[in-house]
Amino acid sequence: MSGTLIRSAALTDVGRSRERNEDAYFEGQRVFAVADGLGGHRAGEVASHLALESIESLDDLDPKRAARDIVDAVRRGNRSVYERQQKDATLKGMGTTMTAVVISEGYAHLAHVGDSRCYLIRGETIRQISNDHTLVARMVSEGKLTPDQAEVHPQRSVLTRALGADKDVDVQETNLVLAPGDRLVLCSDGLSGVLAESEIRRYASDGADLDEICRKLIDTANERGGPDNVTAIVIDVQDTPGEPGPAPAAIKGLGRRARRVPVRPIVWTMLIVGVVVGGWFGVRTWANGSYYVGEDNGKVVIYRGLPVEVGVLSLSSVEETTEIEVEDVTNPSIRRSIEEGIRADSLEDARRIVEVQIEPAVPIRQTSRSTPR
Ligand code: CA
Repeated sequence: MSGTLIRSAALTDVGRSRERNEDAYFEGQRVFAVADGLGGHRAGEVASHLALESIESLDDLDPKRAARDIVDAVRRGNRSVYERQQKDATLKGMGTTMTAVVISEGYAHLAHVGDSRCYLIRGETIRQISNDHTLVARMVSEGKLTPDQAEVHPQRSVLTRALGADKDVDVQETNLVLAPGDRLVLCSDGLSGVLAESEIRRYASDGADLDEICRKLIDTANERGGPDNVTAIVIDVQDTPGEPGPAPAAIKGLGRRARRVPVRPIVWTMLIVGVVVGGWFGVRTWANGSYYVGEDNGKVVIYRGLPVEVGVLSLSSVEETTEIEVEDVTNPSIRRSIEEGIRADSLEDARRIVEVQIEPAVPIRQTSRSTPR
């Protein structure tokens, strides 16, 4: 059992203009997901519920196993939606988004496809953790639209990825270091398309009654016309391992671990296996394709390589520096993660870790950065 203490609430509503609710959600103990179905007649509902079935069973697993399996579970959901419509002509063309999170050991493990969203609310800041797999998001990244233009673009809900469209699907996978007091909001575009991020932040951080927060979010979307089905899950992270804990009564019955398993022994094990399997050359090649966020001369930097040294040989070099001083990171668990090295899938992923996890943990006066954007 993981030591992260969490509370949650969830709500879905048909909205004011649709006849059916094609959104669906799953709210487990540590596993949460929002799915927004697409397709005529009942197909959208079938797709969103079918895809969620593969996620739900993760909640019965040990959280660490669930975290390892979440991306595959989303892929299995994709496969079952795809196969169902091959068999049933009335369901042709159905699909669904999927934004799923497992909370384990002080981390949120996100697996995501489509335009439903996962937000992190930390103090006064809100950050979108999920990428929008939409045509307009692609055009923004290519410089063909501004984010403001994208928000009102008539084709803003055209997806570039969805579950069920093809036999295989490319899943966004993001591992987020959580801090006590963090809140996550998962929602369908029926919410994010109607409320501004600043409003979602304001409502979702207002008070301790999470059911009331969900109600407020959905009521607000409906007051503004309720143009689409709307779903919101709010997850409140009260404690993470390694933090000074709350009063003992609050954690009664929940096993806590002294701290997270540091990354280094895992990397070492992989290294030894790597040397045996691929030789030194293979390890160097592997290291060159890896990134992590760590510390250099007191600053937060992005390394290319692996956070280990083999004798006098270092397997990493600084790829990018930031102006963030490690000692300014107020959260001790995030600071420790930086010291241990936070592994990233790519350079882009490493930049995202800096932007989404580390910058919000630095007091506002420190966040002016000299690095160009
Ligand atoms: Ca929708």
